[in-house]
Amino acid sequence: MFYIIILTFMTIQERIDELRAELHRHNYNYYVSNSPKISDQEFDFMMRELQDLEAAHPEYYDENSPTMRVGSDISKEFVQVDHKYPMLSLGNTYSAAEVADFYQRVKTSLNEDFEVCCELKFDGTSISLTYQNGKLVQAVTRGDGTHGDDVTENVKTIRSIPLVLNKGDYPDEFEIRGEILMPWAVFDELNKEREQREESLFANPRNAASGTLKLQNSSVVASRKLDAYLYYLLSENVPCDGHYENLIKAKSWGFKVFDQMRKAKTLDEIYEFINYWDVERKNLPVATDGIVLKVNSYRQQRNLGFTAKSPRWAIAYKFQAERECTRLNEVTFQVGRTGAVTPVANLDPVQLAGTVVKRASLHNADIIKSLDLHIGDMVYVEKGGEIIPKIVGVDKEARSMAGEEVNFITHCPECGSELVRYEGEAAYYCPNDSTCPPQIKEELSILSAVRL
Ligand SMILES: [Zn+2]
Repeated sequence: MFYIIILTFMTIQERIDELRAELHRHNYNYYVSNSPKISDQEFDFMMRELQDLEAAHPEYYDENSPTMRVGSDISKEFVQVDHKYPMLSLGNTYSAAEVADFYQRVKTSLNEDFEVCCELKFDGTSISLTYQNGKLVQAVTRGDGTHGDDVTENVKTIRSIPLVLNKGDYPDEFEIRGEILMPWAVFDELNKEREQREESLFANPRNAASGTLKLQNSSVVASRKLDAYLYYLLSENVPCDGHYENLIKAKSWGFKVFDQMRKAKTLDEIYEFINYWDVERKNLPVATDGIVLKVNSYRQQRNLGFTAKSPRWAIAYKFQAERECTRLNEVTFQVGRTGAVTPVANLDPVQLAGTVVKRASLHNADIIKSLDLHIGDMVYVEKGGEIIPKIVGVDKEARSMAGEEVNFITHCPECGSELVRYEGEAAYYCPNDSTCPPQIKEELSILSAVRL
């Protein structure tokens, strides 16, 4: 009863404002701090009350209301937007020696003390967010680095991205860059659902995240449970000279930053960070593919400047993909719903990146040909971010004489029709969409879906 008495003393607008503030706060506690203070049910009740009030009182519309998180089913073409600051990509290195070269180049150019901020390189899709007076106003993809797609409505559905910032000393206007990710658990679940519906699978969480971000229907984006880490602050007036310090500030304003980043004063400290995370990253809920090293001081970053393609003050170190050698026993060919024929390598089971691998993708006929595969070959299997590992090479020295050469089939293994290859496509197709079993099965499920 107490609750109702309070309501009578509050105007509708005050109640809406209160709910919005509460929901922003609880959203932050849940998705950014990982410390929810109320139950999911209480959260849902407040959200529903707010949705009802907003529906009844459209005059209090707010484009940054927590209700925007659920998205809308209005299809939207993306508008291309120019980046205020170009979104360059980082130079890649693959060895400790190349990291040492980078360090030495920086040291020689600066000719003074410097620190290097070490962070994990998240394997998702890049995003640039613009905030004005503490409110998210625009979210743009990297695109070609000069301009990208305005995906603001979709980004608003990502719970770990604040729509309204906590109180703090943020600049009136700033950009913050980061990576949008699909957590492994969501990715596995999504692929399981797609498999059941016999749809094509996403190769890795990065593809799934970027595909999701480009969906036209933001309520589907909302259902995909994307996450985001933010890693660089840009503004005419950033609060600190240090990149690390700016990120700590950003964290206090409500952004999710990787808080195990570290400032290194020596090359050895950088190697220590790399070696630690090369192992430890396997326990993270999201995909990572390397380490990013940035000269910490913005003043020193400006002094170092850019090459045509990338900043001189930052570099990415990429982790080695895991690779094992095992025996190729057989190549089988699968016919998909669209008639596309996929070659699959069946292997002696081998332990790779924490799972037992028995099958690997061979992609298409050209790849089989370029590998010069024979049955019984010892092959190298690699697992990058992909769920399905791939064959990347053959140990020809270990080849036995008996093995038969692997050739792409000419006829459909399901119905016997002659396969076709369309102009400009890598895949072979079975053209018989009327009686080829895997192809009709799909049509049946489409028909039943239509009937529902
Ligand atoms: Zn067929």
